[in-house]
Amino acid sequence: MNTQEITLLKDLLANAKNIIIIPHKNPDGDAMGSTLGLWHYLKSKGHNATIISPNDYPTFLKWLPGESEVLKFDSEYDVAIRKIKEADLIFTLDFNDFSRTDRIQPYLEAASAKFVMIDHHQSPSDYATVTYSDATMSSTCEMVYHFINYLGDTANITKEIADCLYTGIMTDTGSFRFASTTSTTHRVIAALIDCGAENAAIHSNIYDANSISRLHLLGCALKNLTVLTEYNTAYITLSKEELTSYNFEKGDTEGFVNYGLSLTGIKFAAIFIENINSDEAFVKISLRSKGNFDVNLFSRSHFNGGGHINAAGGRSDLSLEETTKRFEELVKYHQDQLVD
Ligand code: 5GP
Ligand code: MN
Repeated sequence: MNTQEITLLKDLLANAKNIIIIPHKNPDGDAMGSTLGLWHYLKSKGHNATIISPNDYPTFLKWLPGESEVLKFDSEYDVAIRKIKEADLIFTLDFNDFSRTDRIQPYLEAASAKFVMIDHHQSPSDYATVTYSDATMSSTCEMVYHFINYLGDTANITKEIADCLYTGIMTDTGSFRFASTTSTTHRVIAALIDCGAENAAIHSNIYDANSISRLHLLGCALKNLTVLTEYNTAYITLSKEELTSYNFEKGDTEGFVNYGLSLTGIKFAAIFIENINSDEAFVKISLRSKGNFDVNLFSRSHFNGGGHINAAGGRSDLSLEETTKRFEELVKYHQDQLVD
């Protein structure tokens, strides 16, 4: 952020009576870590702030300090709608377009509040008075740390804030292994540990929270792994029946897509997961790549989604079988980008 934006931001905060913070739908570690980290920070500065999540999030995030106070729009919409109407400042975190908030979208469009966006996805929409958008950042959590730094407040980062921000940096960087991890990311992580973040406990809370049925579901996913050797591509499918038979719970498939990329020589990995709720038939897609293959572009062009160059998501309204058939055709079409 430049000096002018920081001044504007300070002005917005000085006049804000009711603040709302919103993560994207199906919030992940970065979305929840950043909203909760910012929430603890704003509260420590005496602000009245509320987090409204479009929907619930996985159990492995339910130890994050303050998470029990998060409002879920899909089950608490009366109070959530009232709070959005009353808000004079709304922070939107870890997404670049209102459409990523699902059913909150019309209420954000109608809100009289001013907006602040903090996000690391490409192509930010133009709704915010202050847009802090940087696609080179590892995570929105890292950006919230820089945001606090811009306000001159890193000395006041509490253990709660540090635990939340550490979590999102860790999950969005695949535990500091993705190319988005910079020396600055590591300096921020070091600072957060100095502020009290319990790094070993955080890793354990997130990654050692498996149920036996989740591990069995992983076994099923790995059995379904298909390798398209000629195109350096691998993909996994999970049908509704498979999810049901392994007692699928929200968050269970998190990280599965990365197994495709762990194969020698594979540059492009995908997972196709049938929506388990009977009310809507679609396939949720996660895409990951190594190097220059742009999965954000691939998802935007073919699967109505988006994300980052090496990690994106999307959806397909075709059946699971038709979706993977289409995917195989698209991969052939992109062969020159996937093969050296
Ligand atoms: P995941 O595959 O873990 O769901 O998401 C990977 C990245 O892509 C995340 O940054 C996420 O915010 C983004 N993403 C996932 N699904 C969608 C989608 O449907 N639309 C857009 N624009 N981004 C998505
Ligand atoms: Mn993120």
